[in-house]
Amino acid sequence: MNRVFDCVIVENGDNIEIFGNLNIDKDFFYSHIKDKDCEQIIINGEKYWVLKKENVYIIDKFLCFNEILEKYKEEAIYDPLTGCYNKKETEEFIKKFLFNFLRYKTEPFSVLMLDIDFFKKINDTYGHLAGDFVLKQMADLIQNIIRKSDICGRFGGEEFVIVLPNTKISGAMKLANRIKDAIENKEFEFNGIKIKFTVSIGVTSVGINDSYESLMARVDEALYEAKKKGRNRIEYR
Ligand code: GH3
Ligand code: MG
Ligand code: MG
Repeated sequence: MNRVFDCVIVENGDNIEIFGNLNIDKDFFYSHIKDKDCEQIIINGEKYWVLKKENVYIIDKFLCFNEILEKYKEEAIYDPLTGCYNKKETEEFIKKFLFNFLRYKTEPFSVLMLDIDFFKKINDTYGHLAGDFVLKQMADLIQNIIRKSDICGRFGGEEFVIVLPNTKISGAMKLANRIKDAIENKEFEFNGIKIKFTVSIGVTSVGINDSYESLMARVDEALYEAKKKGRNRIEYR
């Protein structure tokens, strides 16, 4: 029986041809699909397999049924609590974006580093389970604010890194403000208890002299500055 794949993408240099009904664009291709092979990705909340053969990518829900491989891949890529990318995967995204920026002079990308303010107090007051619960809620809130082509990774306990392809510092600051305000205004709820907290965010954009280390050191400094200046605020470097 013949069946049509959900999506087929043909990459010819800068020319990306996308066939199918998945509503994928070029940005999404570069951020989530390029160079993946036999890996799962999430599109509109659903899992799809990516298979790559030279410059052709096949994206389909039912390509592989190997559950062990599926589980292994999932654990290797996602943070189990929040469903965000894990640190290793987020680092790989940033390194790939950096490589493309330096090598192919693509548009600059920006990086946000977000850390919850006084999170220890939330654990101490409401318990660790409540802490876990609001972490997941906050991650969902962030995912709903950012674009499909943006990357949200959990970098440490209550620290998240958000990568914005094709975004200069001004756009990154706007998004950081939207995230900060949304979290500040949200009443999280755990077992009927209302929990409120704020975040501090460091922001930076890539420059032509950057390495992965220099980029991350800068965004980390910006976050440190935001904490030092009183928290619930955004600083950029
Ligand atoms: P600030 O960042 O504003 O300086 O204060 P903080 O209290 O948030 O900072 P700190 O980094 O010192 O503490 C982070 C705390 O986050 C430590 C730990 O209690 C909590 N935490 C880290 N990971 C998790 C997690 O997975 N679940 C829960 N519930 N808590 C976590
Ligand atoms: Mg904190
Ligand atoms: Mg922290």
